[in-house]
Amino acid sequence: MFISMTWSEGITERESRVAIDTVKQVLYWLYLRHPEALIDPPIQIRPFGNWIIPALVPDKPYWGTQWYIDSSYDDQLQQVIAPLFLELVRREPWQQADAHFDLALLEQDLTDFPVPLARMYPERYTLGSSLPGTGAVMSVYRLRQIQDTYIRELSLARLVRHHLGHVLGVPELTRRQATARLGLELHCTNPCVMRNAATASELTELALEEVEMGWPFCELCTQELHHVIVRYSYEWS
Ligand SMILES: [Zn+2]
Ligand SMILES: [Zn+2]
Repeated sequence: MFISMTWSEGITERESRVAIDTVKQVLYWLYLRHPEALIDPPIQIRPFGNWIIPALVPDKPYWGTQWYIDSSYDDQLQQVIAPLFLELVRREPWQQADAHFDLALLEQDLTDFPVPLARMYPERYTLGSSLPGTGAVMSVYRLRQIQDTYIRELSLARLVRHHLGHVLGVPELTRRQATARLGLELHCTNPCVMRNAATASELTELALEEVEMGWPFCELCTQELHHVIVRYSYEWS
């Protein structure tokens, strides 16, 4: 199993570095708890970045990272429609050929509403949106307005960590304890990185709080992450 990481043109070297390091850090910590898995990490990271398949450009679908953005971008809203983007990810040929997790980081603004609804609420945005167990799309658009570099990167890392959790299926949809539902996403209500952050300032606030915790996942979410690692360790060997 692997996590594909892609990003749009315009994402800085530093932003992609923060995203990759965040994913690495979470996985590494989880592997440490399962030394048998460490020899052959059950989930690997493949940073594809802003990829392109020249032979498919410009009229064949799925020719590159930019194709997903162009195909889910609404000119009137000037936002990427996250549910559309994620649907393209779910149906992509690469997903059929070799099932994997997908994390995408964009510089375009995002909305988690479908087009007609989004047009009724043009001021609405989302920092990230995910299809639990499959993929997530996140945006740096709002976070770039944070002046302080440390706070900005801390917030970006928190966004990536949160969506990595969703992509790995946390919180589990069957969990009854300490959860709140929002659309397709289920959120944790414990002090935990799986709490929902609706705005950039909420995100920053939670990120700062979680720095104090060291490991940012609560007990319940951590257990679920361990189950994921164990499951893939067995499939691997
Ligand atoms: Zn969420
Ligand atoms: Zn939690």
